[in-house]
Order: sequence, then structure tokens, then C-alpha cells
Amino acid sequence: MYLESIDSRYYETPDGRRGKKAIQSDFLRRIQIRHFLLFTVLPPIGTAVAIALLFWYPLGWPVFAIFLIMWSITSVGQTLGYHRLFAHASFKAHPAVRAALAIAGSMAGLGSLISWTAMHRRHHECSDKPGDMHSPNLHGETRSARLRGFVHAHFTWMMGHEYPNVNYYTPELMSDYRLLWISRHYMTWIVLGLVIPTAAAALITGTWIGALNGFLWGGAVRMFVVSNAMWSLNSFLHIWGSKPYKCRDHSGNSGLLALFSWGEGWHHNHHAFPHSASFALTWYRVDPGYYLIRLLQALGLVWDVKTVPAQRLAERAA
Ligand SMILES: [Zn+2]
Ligand SMILES: [Zn+2]
Repeated sequence: MYLESIDSRYYETPDGRRGKKAIQSDFLRRIQIRHFLLFTVLPPIGTAVAIALLFWYPLGWPVFAIFLIMWSITSVGQTLGYHRLFAHASFKAHPAVRAALAIAGSMAGLGSLISWTAMHRRHHECSDKPGDMHSPNLHGETRSARLRGFVHAHFTWMMGHEYPNVNYYTPELMSDYRLLWISRHYMTWIVLGLVIPTAAAALITGTWIGALNGFLWGGAVRMFVVSNAMWSLNSFLHIWGSKPYKCRDHSGNSGLLALFSWGEGWHHNHHAFPHSASFALTWYRVDPGYYLIRLLQALGLVWDVKTVPAQRLAERAA
């Protein structure tokens, strides 16, 4: 960060100007509710329709392959692009790779690049303390309070939350005109992420029902699966999960979730060492996202990949 932090609410620039780190307004709340209805409520409805349709029209390999490809593209855009590259600068990448990852990540429907990055940096700064917009651990200790915390962390927080000041949290992204342009065209990328599977399925199957299935499985079901995997980090993995390193928050690891999220399930490791490109940290934990970073590095498309020395891991072992 280029600016000095005073507490979780304000920041001060080196020349003495103060600003708010996060704001809340009715205008922002209306945008958040609209986003919630479109990209949190509609995908599960689309998923229910997709499953119901299976009774009349079997899925077929082409549509299932389209689902897997779209799931991979948008998951990789999220974990490699939004998270490891833009939010944490854990490696450097060719401008074309940066743009491709930013667009692929946008298609997931989890927020525009700059908004998501700002929110995520604030999550790390305040992790499980006031200011963390999706902590499950700030609602009380009774059983019902814990349940409310879980639901809040999984998705209801999105209906109305503090919006982080992008000038404070993401100054380097705000001054990158390419990323700013991609971030501003967020809705375009979401629509593209729905048109591609629909058109591909229409071309391959040559039927209207094939096109509809392409839209449902490559669009709605894929969004439902990717977003729930990512939200599970905030809910499940800020309550449960193994904690092999010393860390100041409640984050945990899940090797099972790591398989379904391209390595994101090593969430505790990530909180303990946020600048590491590898979330697994060791060879014996599976981190498909990190393998892809290594492949891109071998191809010369990414470089300066940050890792944590074994000695540092040993020092922080819990
Ligand atoms: Zn992170
Ligand atoms: Zn977290």
C-alpha cells in the first residue's frame, strides 16, 4: 500500500490528507442488491431448471465438456487472475495473460476486478475483525448466532456491505488503463461468459434444446458451482479446517475443497503467507492453480513467481 493506515476506518496520505477506507450508501446498496439478485439468486434457479430438464433431455458429452471448460476458465480467472496475480501480486505476467485472466475472472460474476480486489485486500487487512465484510466470526457465540454468521459469510453479506475505497486499496490497478477498462466492462464479460457456452452448444448439437442446455450448464450451473466454491472459503474455511501455521485469524485448510477450486481450499496457508503464488506451500498438497502458474512460467508467459522458503515455513509451524 502506498498510503499510511491509521486504523480500520481511516487512512492518511504522506502529505497529511485523510480519507475513509470504506463507505456505505443507499446508492451502493441498490447496486449490491441488484448484483445479488442477478448473480447469487438466479444461478441456483437456473441450476434447478438444468437438473429438472435432465429428466427429458440427457446432458450428453458435448454439453458436459462445455461445462467443464467454462468451469476451468472462470475458476482459473478467479484464482490465478483476480486472487494470486491482481490482489496479491504473487507473480508477474505478460500483458496478454493479465488481460485474459482479468476477463476470465470477471465471467465468474463475483464482482468487477477492481471492486473484488479492493474487497479482498480489506478482507486480509481486517480478517475476522471489524471491517472484514464477510467474517462468520463476528455475530456472537450462541448456536443461532454461529449459524447466522455462517449464512452471512457465505452470501447474505453481499446484499449490503461497506464498499472499500479503491483509491486506498487498489491504487496500482486504478492507474492501469487496461485493467480499468476491463473492470468497467464487467457486465460485458459476464454476458460473454453466457454467450460462449450457448453458441458452442448450439453449433455442436445443432438443436435449440442443445443451445438451452449449453446456456444452463455452461452459464448458470457453472456460475453456481464456481461461486459456491469461492464463498465456501469465507464461510466453511473461516470456521473449520486444519491450521498448520501460526496465523492471527480463524482461516482453515481443506484439501477436498482445493481440488474443486484449483487450490483455493488451502485458505489457511494463504492467510499465513498471502504473497506466496503457491497456496499448497509443499509438494504433497495438491494445488492445480500453482501447477498452471509453473506451466505458464516454463512457457515464458509469467515470471518472478513468489514462494516461501522451507525454513520460513518451519518457523511459522503451529
Ligand atoms: Zn487472498
Ligand atoms: Zn479468508
